Amino acid sequence: MPKQEVQRRHEMWEELCERGGPQSVGSTLVRELGIYRGQAGIWRDKDQTAGLTDDGSGVTVSVLHTGQSYADDLSEGGVIYHYPETGRIGSRDENEVEATKNACRLGIPIFVVVYPEEDDSKRDVHLGRVADWNDETEEFLILFDADFNAPGETASEVREREPFQLTSERSGRTSPQLTRPEQGRFSFNVFKRYGKKCAVCEISVGDMLVAAHIRGKAEDGSDDARNGLVLCKNHHAAFDSGLFSIEPETHLIHTQEEGPSKQELRIKHSRLSPARSEPHEDAVRWHWERWKEEQ
Ligand SMILES: [Zn+2]
Repeated sequence: MPKQEVQRRHEMWEELCERGGPQSVGSTLVRELGIYRGQAGIWRDKDQTAGLTDDGSGVTVSVLHTGQSYADDLSEGGVIYHYPETGRIGSRDENEVEATKNACRLGIPIFVVVYPEEDDSKRDVHLGRVADWNDETEEFLILFDADFNAPGETASEVREREPFQLTSERSGRTSPQLTRPEQGRFSFNVFKRYGKKCAVCEISVGDMLVAAHIRGKAEDGSDDARNGLVLCKNHHAAFDSGLFSIEPETHLIHTQEEGPSKQELRIKHSRLSPARSEPHEDAVRWHWERWKEEQ
């Protein structure tokens, strides 16, 4: 059954392309092909997809990205899609979230329908896959590539098995500033891996937290989540300016001998305390050795 649904969606995509798509197509064609017929953000097409799952929650066919609330989250490679929050009665939102996870679990592609800025009667359509999700930050990672994981496996599970890369592979060319799409995906991966809490204090307010690189981009640090940490904005600034570092063997936090103390920096823990996983040892060691040299 999932196999037939994969086939059906590829046929929808081919027809869309044959009829002038996938960019700047009329919204009526999108409806006609069954790509998107919803009212709000997530279109499940329950008649078509409810039978694919035991609980009848179905499998999301498409998500609508209007760009109004989170314009920065769309890039060439994919989109960070926020869980719907419409406050509708019943468990509809929950089912829509579940149906979108099901697309990943069953290895079924979905469409991302975007309103182009110039003309709101037109739609840009992308064929994508649900690569991952994070219930804490309430976000999906949807990628526009055909590179499917085994059904049921999320991108973060695949990544944990891959060898760790401390530096990025870009040879010769270094850009200290991340472009938005890269930053968006790095940030998604870091929050997914460590949890939504500063690794050295107790702050867990989303707007006050950032995904920080341990080996920074300016020093060729990679976007591997294991080269990252969740820190609050204050402690990110303190970490980047060398006010503290982390001893690799013990994960004890050390501040400069002549500089502000842990108490002054409002560092609450004696050792690194992310909500979940620890960063890769090579990344921690790189920061520590450089920091020691500078002392
Ligand atoms: Zn903090």
